[in-house]
Amino acid sequence: MATATTKLQLSQIAPHVVQSEIRSMSVECDRLGGVNLAQGICDTEVPSPVVDRAISAIHEGHNIYTRLDGVAVLRQAIAKKLARDNGIEADPEGEVLVTSGATGGLYATALALLNPGDEVVLFEPFYGYHLNTLLALRMKPVAVPLATHTWELDLDRLRASITPKTRAIIVNTPSNPCGKVFSRKELEAIAELAIEHDLFVFTDEIYEYFVFDGTEHISPASLPGMKERTITISGLSKTFSITGWRVGYLAADRKWTGAIGYFHDLTYVCSPSAFQYGAAAGLLELPRTYYESMSGEYQAKRDLLCSALTDIGMTPSVPTGAYYVLADASRLPGANAKERARFLLRETSVAAVAGTAFFTEGGGENLLRFCFAKREHDLQRACDLLRSLK
Ligand code: PLP
Repeated sequence: MATATTKLQLSQIAPHVVQSEIRSMSVECDRLGGVNLAQGICDTEVPSPVVDRAISAIHEGHNIYTRLDGVAVLRQAIAKKLARDNGIEADPEGEVLVTSGATGGLYATALALLNPGDEVVLFEPFYGYHLNTLLALRMKPVAVPLATHTWELDLDRLRASITPKTRAIIVNTPSNPCGKVFSRKELEAIAELAIEHDLFVFTDEIYEYFVFDGTEHISPASLPGMKERTITISGLSKTFSITGWRVGYLAADRKWTGAIGYFHDLTYVCSPSAFQYGAAAGLLELPRTYYESMSGEYQAKRDLLCSALTDIGMTPSVPTGAYYVLADASRLPGANAKERARFLLRETSVAAVAGTAFFTEGGGENLLRFCFAKREHDLQRACDLLRSLK
């Protein structure tokens, strides 16, 4: 029998961590048999060296826990790639940590380097996991809006958001959901503020190889004076289309990696052993052309989707990176973004995410986010369906 005085209850923060809107749109889309452009599922081919090495690693018996910072071959491959592509020198013994995706990397970083009540700046529109990770750990996210449509950094707003309680800035470049790639000038300005106020910078560079129109991805840790205070977080989920394998990593000064590794071990133990070997093979064996052709392929997909959205009067903010498009949904009926997304799904069988998932209260009501990490014929079908909108 229920009792009014029970002590069994949810934690104080549980009600604030709501069910992901992205997931609920995906469920609804499946129910209708539609095309899901809501979720970044990334169901493109996994490169064969990655698959083959993971399978052979299982047969060789790499099925047990790994060292808490990951297997040596992967740490070495990551260090090599960081030096080659990111301008970051990191010692694979002590400055590189293999994590359970970029997600596990950020979670462990926040546990190790922040305290409850600490303020952390992130740019809006933001990736929901960044905000919710901070809330789950009882930290205070402070959203700094980027300029609408151009997504340019407003340095004055950033400066104004910093208080004596600010401990870190999260920089997601290229960004989900708006596809912004932070310019060198913007990153230098962020770096200057981080140094002036003695802040950490946590990056999320998971889309680093998805850059278009010749745009350059710059890692904040490569800027002068930033290596010591930057935790560079990335992973292979997107680059090798292995979101379910849970292989990510971070690079940081050895002052921080011990505690981050400790908390990562407590929450995730380790990234799956055989998959670490698969990821290492991908990093070591795939040629530069793999990354170049991936960018080219996704740029073509971006153009396909943006042209369909333009044709139906849903003006897209054309992204220069990542694989999402935010489009203007004000022509769709509905009192808010969720209703507009549901209208679109009902009318065209294409699922998108309400823009409100990426903004604080009141923002994003006129926006929908579409993901173009899809096989070409699925994306083409989605574009045809979208064009059927009257
Ligand atoms: N960071 C961003 C910005 C993302 O959009 C996603 C997935 O959508 C992730 C991290 C998840 O990365 P991982 O699979 O490495 O945890």
